[in-house]
Amino acid sequence: MKSDIEIALAADMKPIREIAGQLELTESDWEPYGHYKAKLSDKLLKRLSDRPNGKIILTTSINPTPAGEGKSTVTVGLGQALNHLNKKAIIALREPSLGPTMGIKGGAAGGGYSQVVPMDEINLHFTGDIHAITAANNALSAFIDNHIHQGNELNIDPRRVEWKRVLDINDRALRQVVVGLGGPARGVPREDGFKITVASEIMAILCLANDLEDLKERLAKVVIGYTYGKQPVTVKQLGVEGALTLLLKDAIKPNLVQTLENTPAIIHGGPFANIAHGCNSVIATKIAAKLGEYVVTESGFGADLGAEKFLDIKTRAGEFEPDAVVIVATIRALKMHGGVNKKELETENVAALEKGVENLKKHMETIEGFNLPFVVAVNRFPADTEAEVEFLMNWCEKQGAPAALADVFSKGGSGGLELAEEVVRLCEEKSGSLNYTYELKDSLDEKINKIAQNVYGADGVEFSSKAEKQLKQMDELGFSGLPVCMAKTQYSLSDDPTKLGRPGGFKISVKELHVSAGAGFVVVLTGDVMTMPGLPKKPAALKMDVTESGVIKGLF
Ligand code: ADP
Repeated sequence: MKSDIEIALAADMKPIREIAGQLELTESDWEPYGHYKAKLSDKLLKRLSDRPNGKIILTTSINPTPAGEGKSTVTVGLGQALNHLNKKAIIALREPSLGPTMGIKGGAAGGGYSQVVPMDEINLHFTGDIHAITAANNALSAFIDNHIHQGNELNIDPRRVEWKRVLDINDRALRQVVVGLGGPARGVPREDGFKITVASEIMAILCLANDLEDLKERLAKVVIGYTYGKQPVTVKQLGVEGALTLLLKDAIKPNLVQTLENTPAIIHGGPFANIAHGCNSVIATKIAAKLGEYVVTESGFGADLGAEKFLDIKTRAGEFEPDAVVIVATIRALKMHGGVNKKELETENVAALEKGVENLKKHMETIEGFNLPFVVAVNRFPADTEAEVEFLMNWCEKQGAPAALADVFSKGGSGGLELAEEVVRLCEEKSGSLNYTYELKDSLDEKINKIAQNVYGADGVEFSSKAEKQLKQMDELGFSGLPVCMAKTQYSLSDDPTKLGRPGGFKISVKELHVSAGAGFVVVLTGDVMTMPGLPKKPAALKMDVTESGVIKGLF
């Protein structure tokens, strides 16, 4: 089979005008960004507000292996398959971050015959949204340092500035830095650090805002650090929410592209799910629901991270509910959860699969806990054997769980018809409303404990003395009514990435808390989660190239 980039470059793309036409958009609803990309107007949602909403389908997965389990691939494939069934479907995805593209993943626009295109542009600079977020984030850093340099009227304690600079590249050398060195003309020295752009609170704000006004209000609320008297200092006090909003005025407009089969796809916003909330923008999801009968959207990593945050944070911010959930599982990842090491995944091992399904079982229980109907999508890989597939499908049947084999990677939409039919059936069946993991009135401690126990299967939570102090501080400052955004390793249900399968008898250790008052949540850092990833020994970048004639290589 051809590589992802070979398939993507051979795509028969329609001019974006035709895709906009398919959605019955008027000229003022969109603006072209080249031949195959468009920005949707930030007024569109208001214009469509009287329309009924289409069904929203959330794709999530088991705890993934380093390369991912094919959630984006299945999301794209399912959207295409729904169109085969003559349903008007739209896909709503996240924008890929350059960090993992250059690091491990080599791209995040789906795979095989289920990709969004133009894949190279989507994976690289796309329409510049992530760069705009980097610029806005770092402009705020500059405003903070300038304020301190120019006399520090707000009495900001330079040792308590929590706002970090960002870059959308994995660069471990920047995790901790000192800025302002070189004497009085170069500012006030203080410790700073870099996060990856997709972990910036501005990314979260862009993804949770309902419109430009909401964006500005949220930006104004951002707490950048604390005074010498330990009182929070906000963007509003610095007076720069207008400038930051201006820098983001185009980034807030969702991007319209298409899949290899010309299914419309809206790609907008891309926070990571392990260190941020992991979902595409509220605006994009809501526009897609107004334009299509079915929206297929994804949340990052496993159901313990992305789906939990989609359901407990994003649906609250956007005031909507999904209708059905697709849990993506792969036989190779389940074998890893059953104890097989990475090098032996190509060898048949039903016994390991039998152990590994416990991981899937926990995620099924989690989605049931939210009171949502689900289907297991088994994303078929070439090395899966008949015996393994048969075991997994029988196991799902014994659990009473609907399951469908998806071969959208090698067949496109036609490889996902069974899955699409099941999804349509589930959407009709949905009854009752979403059951959140916690109530907003619960204390932060209770919220964290409920997620740890009900979603991760932990015995409880241990707070470091720093976290204990911060819990009290958050309470005093009036932040305890916010939802929590857990930062945890994606590889395990626990906070230890080596504990695969369905670990038991563990506690979650909370090291630190940070308030993201603009995004509207409290970030809870567990285990050793890094907000600036590093590159692996052999980054995907080593295989990347572009020839003189413009042929691209190394984007998977
Ligand atoms: P996720 O969204 O879970 O991170 P992706 O959809 O980005 O995963 O897929 C991860 C990688 O795996 C991509 O390079 C993709 O091309 C590849 N992939 C996905 N599904 C399959 C499959 N069924 N067979 C082979 N490769 C696949």
